[in-house]
Amino acid sequence: MESLKEDIRAELLALTQSLKLQIKSDTGSGRQPSYLFVEGKVPMNNGPAVHRSFVDNRTQPRKSLSLEDVRKELGDCHRCPLGQIRTNLVFGEGNPKAEIVFVGEAPGRDEDIQGRPFVGRAGQLLTRIIIAMGLKREDVYICNILKCRPPGNRNPRPEEIMTCEPFLIKQLQTINPKVICALGTFAAHTLLKTDVPITVLRGKFHTYHGIQLMPTYHPAFLLRNPASKKQVWDDVQKIMKILLPPASH
Ligand code: SF4
Repeated sequence: MESLKEDIRAELLALTQSLKLQIKSDTGSGRQPSYLFVEGKVPMNNGPAVHRSFVDNRTQPRKSLSLEDVRKELGDCHRCPLGQIRTNLVFGEGNPKAEIVFVGEAPGRDEDIQGRPFVGRAGQLLTRIIIAMGLKREDVYICNILKCRPPGNRNPRPEEIMTCEPFLIKQLQTINPKVICALGTFAAHTLLKTDVPITVLRGKFHTYHGIQLMPTYHPAFLLRNPASKKQVWDDVQKIMKILLPPASH
């Protein structure tokens, strides 16, 4: 109970500090404060709230954008409170021209320490899955919906996703893979904007911003439920058929 209170206290403190930093930065730059977005409305100059689309200036594709550009734009991000409590921002890594991108939920403890995605036990299992697909980690791209670790590995919150997801969309637009593999319930639900159970979603292709998306179980779930590895292997084989279509005769 006490540690829960401590977590909540730390998070509230981080939220306050983050808002202060962002207000200071926005005031200095004369930018419209993005953190004032509430359900598509934004108050302008203390006047009445006016409707504005969330995607108006944050998810527009820019044709010549590179991953380095996206990383630069993200900068030392403090757009949400998680920026105050992370050790390292985990942007993602791999082949900028990958045909497949694996998207997880958020960095865990090991990832937060190392600044790299999927490097803990679950990450090692993901690496083995990638090798079983006949690929290497360097061939694929791996990232998460959130780029900073939520305290105690709790689920990402809607406002954190709303703030961070535009950068994931830009990463995916830049890489333009043939397939996205959503790892686990949370990644699948967030990307597909659904709450259909992963047991129903997995095994079938869906579409995310025009890219084929296969949801499957998270490697951390497989560590706890090794019997589900077969289903993941089934999903992965469907992906491989897209990556390596049979040679025509
Ligand atoms: S989670 Fe995303 S939006 Fe929040 S601070 Fe980290 S990079 Fe920025």
